[in-house]
Amino acid sequence: MEQRQTIVVIGAGIVGMSTAIWLQRAGQNVIIVERGEPGHDKGTSYGNGGTIVPSGVVPVTGPGMIAKAPKMLLDPNFPLFLRWGYLPKLLPWLMKYLSNANENDTRRIAKGLEIIVGDAVEQHKALAKGTTAEGWITDSDYCFAYPDRAAFEADAFIWELRRDAGQVPALIEGDAVRDYEPSMGASVNLLAVMKNHAFVRAPGRYVAALAEVFRAEGGEIRRAEVRDVDLTKGRISAVITDQGRIDCDAAVLATGVWSKPLAQKLGVTVPLESERGYHIVFKDPSMTLNATYMMTGGKFVVTPMEAGIRCAGVVEFGGLDAPASRAPLALLRKQVAQYFPTLEYSGTEEWMGHRPAPSDSLPVIGELAGSGVFAGFGHHHIGLTGGAKTGRVIADLITKKGSNIDLAAFDPQRFN
Ligand SMILES: Cc1cc2nc3c(=O)[nH]c(=O)nc-3n(C[C@H](O)[C@H](O)[C@H](O)COP(=O)(O)OP(=O)(O)OC[C@H]3O[C@@H](n4cnc5c(N)ncnc54)[C@H](O)[C@@H]3O)c2cc1C
Repeated sequence: MEQRQTIVVIGAGIVGMSTAIWLQRAGQNVIIVERGEPGHDKGTSYGNGGTIVPSGVVPVTGPGMIAKAPKMLLDPNFPLFLRWGYLPKLLPWLMKYLSNANENDTRRIAKGLEIIVGDAVEQHKALAKGTTAEGWITDSDYCFAYPDRAAFEADAFIWELRRDAGQVPALIEGDAVRDYEPSMGASVNLLAVMKNHAFVRAPGRYVAALAEVFRAEGGEIRRAEVRDVDLTKGRISAVITDQGRIDCDAAVLATGVWSKPLAQKLGVTVPLESERGYHIVFKDPSMTLNATYMMTGGKFVVTPMEAGIRCAGVVEFGGLDAPASRAPLALLRKQVAQYFPTLEYSGTEEWMGHRPAPSDSLPVIGELAGSGVFAGFGHHHIGLTGGAKTGRVIADLITKKGSNIDLAAFDPQRFN
């Protein structure tokens, strides 16, 4: 029998929480180190769109993107933004990112993502089963909203990728769209409906509930910032925090977009950027929703949450330090008003956060250079969806439980 190890999980976002819970359930002694409260509003797991999307296999980079990108950036009505002063810093990553914008790489990335997102609903339910976290997960359809059939057909390649992943939509067209969703405005005339999806009614509270589950099952959460790791003969022996040292047998780097420096210290360079994203919550909304929506024209999701209707999406490049920009939020508001013209509300909450984006749009999962530190970060747009499974996979790797999942696509060393 494997010995009980002490394992430090760094970061209590969705990936860290899932990893910690599965490790603990496998009989390990687990300590989470998190610099904020689990589910805090600076973490990406707080502000996302809340959708659990098994059909989420399509990366942002796709064939033709290089030719279209300049026009997209200059069009104030397109949901792609760049803080131009950040461009020189962004450039090396951007070149790598755009090198994937072709058919072969897009197919390869979709195959990789399918492994992590394909059974996401079951994975979240297994993680939360029988606990207080379970109540935050709601089964739902997930609908891609299009202006018309021509726009849907223009996405034929994307739909081929989803079909290859076993995700086949049911189409609703014309006035039937309003029968399905009465509050949907007249500019949407086709819904591609994906069954057996789900959403989380308050992502931050879901993560906080998972933290309570972890504590209740005997786990310890320490509030501290991890600064470094101590290696003995190349393997981790301690995690160094601003509150002191924690001896351990293994560690997990689940620090989202902030993971690059610690991975680098272990000799693994990951081209990781922030894909900044935004949300607006419309409080006390005058409408209810029968499903969650991806508004394909605006590139944002619409989710009925505990606090109101949350519209979340948009991509902005501008790094980790710059404050939120006004233009993405203004565009999001304008597009919400167009798509849902009857929506009234008592107030709004705005948020900006950082999708952890490796240049090849695939998460980083696996041991970092034989150090006993395991990576679980880089889930860009699909981190809530894929976070539950990633945690389970890492727990299996550390406890050498073995699995038949091929993790080659996520190898942390693939960029070296
Ligand atoms: C606008 C927007 C909408 C989105 N919508 C969706 C969606 O609908 N569905 C979906 O699947 N995904 C969505 N995503 C993506 C998803 O939110 C992320 O991929 C996911 O939350 C990443 O989780 P994580 O656990 O890796 O990182 P995080 O949630 O960021 O957690 C990392 C944690 O590590 C901690 N940390 C960092 N450094 C240290 C340190 N040195 N010491 C101690 N603690 C540290 C941080 O405080 C943080 O709590 C969206 C993202 C955005 C921005």
